[in-house]
Amino acid sequence: MSRQYETVIGLEVHVELATKTKIFCGCSTEFGGEPNTHTCPVCTGMPGSLPVLNRQVVEYALAVGLAANCQINQYCKFDRKNYFYPDNPQNYQISQLYLPICHDGWVEIDTASGKKKIGIHEIHMEEDAGKLIHDEWEDCSLVDYNRSGVPLIEIVSEPDMRNADEVMAYLEKLRLMIQYLGASDCKLQEGSMRADVNLSVREAGTSRLGTRTEMKNLNSFKAIARAIEGERARQIELLEDGKKVIQETRRWDDNKESSYAMRSKEDAQDYRYFPDPDLLPVVISDQWIQEIKSRQPEMQPEKMARYQKEFQIPEYDAGILTSTIHMARLFEKTTALCGKPKEVSNWLMVETMRLLKEHEQTPEDLSFSPENLARLIALVDEGAINRTVAKTVFEQIFAQDVDPEKYVEEKGLGMVSDQGALRKAVEDVIAANPQSVEDYRKGKEKAMGYLVGQTMRAMKGKADPGMVNKIVKELLTK
Ligand SMILES: [Zn+2]
Repeated sequence: MSRQYETVIGLEVHVELATKTKIFCGCSTEFGGEPNTHTCPVCTGMPGSLPVLNRQVVEYALAVGLAANCQINQYCKFDRKNYFYPDNPQNYQISQLYLPICHDGWVEIDTASGKKKIGIHEIHMEEDAGKLIHDEWEDCSLVDYNRSGVPLIEIVSEPDMRNADEVMAYLEKLRLMIQYLGASDCKLQEGSMRADVNLSVREAGTSRLGTRTEMKNLNSFKAIARAIEGERARQIELLEDGKKVIQETRRWDDNKESSYAMRSKEDAQDYRYFPDPDLLPVVISDQWIQEIKSRQPEMQPEKMARYQKEFQIPEYDAGILTSTIHMARLFEKTTALCGKPKEVSNWLMVETMRLLKEHEQTPEDLSFSPENLARLIALVDEGAINRTVAKTVFEQIFAQDVDPEKYVEEKGLGMVSDQGALRKAVEDVIAANPQSVEDYRKGKEKAMGYLVGQTMRAMKGKADPGMVNKIVKELLTK
């Protein structure tokens, strides 16, 4: 390949908002549930039903827009995007085209070559569609309208990204920001965050944009990265062969690691947008914006800096602890209960991360209570259990949030510090290992460690290791 190409990527990210009810009716937004049980005449598009805007949707959209440094359209409107599809019972989607709630913002990402601003073209509010289920059914498709009318924001970036790493950093940034704001849980696997990738290539050094394609159906960060690499290669090959890239929507098949054309890309005019006559324009006062601003929580970069300063947590650890709001909350609540930030950080950074990896879980799945971790830390601190036992107990806390005090008592895991019992155990071990005793007396320090280990094992790990050490030394030098 002689020519050098540059990839130009823009993202459309859909985020399901964490409201309890849908955007235009009172139906529950809860994920799962029996099909078509969270529905009413509004969200199933019955004639004559009227939508009423959920105020919380506007507040979440404003919170995200302000965090992404956007301008706010203080007079914004909803429009109808007309199209027929069975998952869309109204035959139109209520969205925002002409006056979206937020526009012209940016977020900053870290890249290999330093910090970079990614422009946000706009953020608009809209409703989600229902879900069609094709796969298990040979002769028919089924539709579930539970998702119909679930509120979404669509965050449209400028075409400012140049490779998969920047896209990942941007998505991670958005996800963290939105999770911290509490506006969504942003779970790609459950579809509460979805990204469509607009990608084109052009010869390096030129400024005109090439023809772009849009890729849909990307439900994991890995799939997005693979789709970007695949589509980049496909477009370059077309151009190298003297062919043209066609503007179209493509569906990425992550199993086959290739994409196929779904339909030629529509333009806005194909949807015959017009202002929704059933909904009033949304007027956002200065005071309302001020209220939202004053309620914005501490965001990740500030939290990370505070952990380093207030708790002397190293930068890397502070980064991990704040990498999800779940971990950060757990850290803060447990620290408030036990007053030992470094111990808490240690349990979260080492054992928690290890168990998450082992169970193929993410911090969002953590379900143990800060109270139980705080109690465990206190038990170690008081010398009621040793660290080896504490790890075993922690596994139980991690798995089923057991009360560590009760668990230790029930299982008889309390630390044995009874001099007589320990001495007896050491004497037995020494009697059974004459070779090690001789080795030690000849100057092999290691032999002592072995005898301590054997004693700990004989005591099923519950002995006070400090005392065992002392007794072994005492008996060996006698
Ligand atoms: Zn409804």
